[in-house]
Amino acid sequence: MGDENPSVAHGRADRSGVAQPMTDSAARSAELDRLEDWTGLDPRGRSARAAELELIAAAAGDAPAEMRARLIQADVAERAGDAKPAVAVMWQVNEWARAHGHRYLIARSHLLLGRTYRNMGDVAALLEHAVAAVEHLDDSVHPRRRLPYVVKYADALTETGSIEAARERYRQAADLARHSTDVRDEVMVLNNHAYAEYLAGEPGRAWQLIERLRAVAAARGHRLDPNDLDTVANVQLALGRHAEAEQTVLEAIAAYPDGHQESDALPEFLLTLAVTRRLQGDVAAARDTLDECRALCVAHGHGEILVRVRQEQAELYAMAGDFQRAFDEYKRFHAAEKRVLDEQREAQARTRQALFEVNEARQEAERFREQARRDPLTGLRNRRYVDEHLPGLIERESPLWAAVLDLDHFKQVNDRCSHEIGDQVLVAVAALLADAVAGVDEHRAFAARLGGEEFLLVLTGLGRADTLAFLERLRRRVAAHPWGPVTGDLPVTISVGVALAAVGGTQATLLAAADDQLYEAKRAGRNRVRMAARATRPTLTRG
Ligand code: GH3
Ligand code: MG
Ligand code: MG
Repeated sequence: MGDENPSVAHGRADRSGVAQPMTDSAARSAELDRLEDWTGLDPRGRSARAAELELIAAAAGDAPAEMRARLIQADVAERAGDAKPAVAVMWQVNEWARAHGHRYLIARSHLLLGRTYRNMGDVAALLEHAVAAVEHLDDSVHPRRRLPYVVKYADALTETGSIEAARERYRQAADLARHSTDVRDEVMVLNNHAYAEYLAGEPGRAWQLIERLRAVAAARGHRLDPNDLDTVANVQLALGRHAEAEQTVLEAIAAYPDGHQESDALPEFLLTLAVTRRLQGDVAAARDTLDECRALCVAHGHGEILVRVRQEQAELYAMAGDFQRAFDEYKRFHAAEKRVLDEQREAQARTRQALFEVNEARQEAERFREQARRDPLTGLRNRRYVDEHLPGLIERESPLWAAVLDLDHFKQVNDRCSHEIGDQVLVAVAALLADAVAGVDEHRAFAARLGGEEFLLVLTGLGRADTLAFLERLRRRVAAHPWGPVTGDLPVTISVGVALAAVGGTQATLLAAADDQLYEAKRAGRNRVRMAARATRPTLTRG
């Protein structure tokens, strides 16, 4: 729509600190705005430009712009019926946006996902996504650019049978449209609202809106497009104003002689025209119009319209008293309709399968990531998890304690029993550790196996005395565990070294300090807990 739209603020706010000149990023954002708005661009050109912008944004390190460009391509693909890869991209962008707290992209991906599910006939999902889309738009988004979101939400409410709630949103959208200098925005809102009232069986209300729509268009010298005129004709037919409906359709056909505003616009109009003529009793004119429509459908492959042509043909035969042919035509109509419905159902099933696979793939990837961060023997977190999460925890949480635990004389268990028994002991000790931190948020405390028979406990928010008491309890629980059935007369105990993270300290210095204490515990006779007297200092600040 309008080129005058100020761009959304988010695109720039995210890029602070990047060497890219502000003007490039702002220009990119403005162009993405235009590509998102879509009107007046051919889909292929729109997609191609979005693909270019994706590369440019990637090279500039502008991830949000990259994601917006990807969504535009998915938008085009989905409209062209290529739902499977499009849906995957929409979910990926949605995931990225949620991980990065990027509200505009969360909203945008939900908007497109809503339409995708709607096209599969899932109006409940449409509503869910439409709600999520609106909820994530914040005030930095220009009123004009909020419009599609509010209208989509209103349409979703209409389709799920809540016309009352929908009216409220259409009114809100009408307010937003007044912020736009582009008359098409106001016309679009009135058209959608009128069509909603028509769907809700309220042609009288729909008509009031159409009168407003016409007044707005006339006052600003705007010509209604076929889509608007189609709404007008439908409402007129619903009101029994058959002659007026005929005039509207003729107006539409005259205004768009090539009929290519939308590829199937002309045959649709001809079919409606035939209906208005039959309803006025002019069988001959209706038949001629229908013949013209049929020829066009056959020539250009509008199979779905052709089915309705048969239905209208049957009506015409019946009106002329030729009931045998009417009946035959009806049978053909039903057969053709069934074929079309079957094809649609098949297409829906394929898209549903595609969505399912996308979700499966996502869950699979999450499961894989989760597994790669666990120790396979004990199920505890592993070294990789520690390396990924401990530095962040040290930065955020204070106080934070690291306790390194090592089994005492573990070699004896392996030697005197067996390696398998040794494994069983490791699993049992791990279970006691896991139990000790069970129910605590993993972002505040966790247990990990560092390797071999060495474990790590990370605890936050506890004072010195409480930490010591906690670890003492754990040490005693390990020693008191009924090991007899596993190791016979061999006791199993642990030594523990614990250290407090210093402000600004690193994982390496913290674990080294805990190791020092573990060594002290071993030297002092094992089966005991040793704690460093003071917080460890970051190595670099020494001396
Ligand atoms: P200390 O009290 O000084 O720690 O004595 P220790 O016997 O535990 O000494 P050390 O740390 O040298 O020995 C650890 C042993 O743990 C050596 C290795 O055979 C055994 N081990 C390491 N990983 C595994 C494992 O996955 N399973 C089994 N069963 N044993 C393991
Ligand atoms: Mg040991
Ligand atoms: Mg060891």
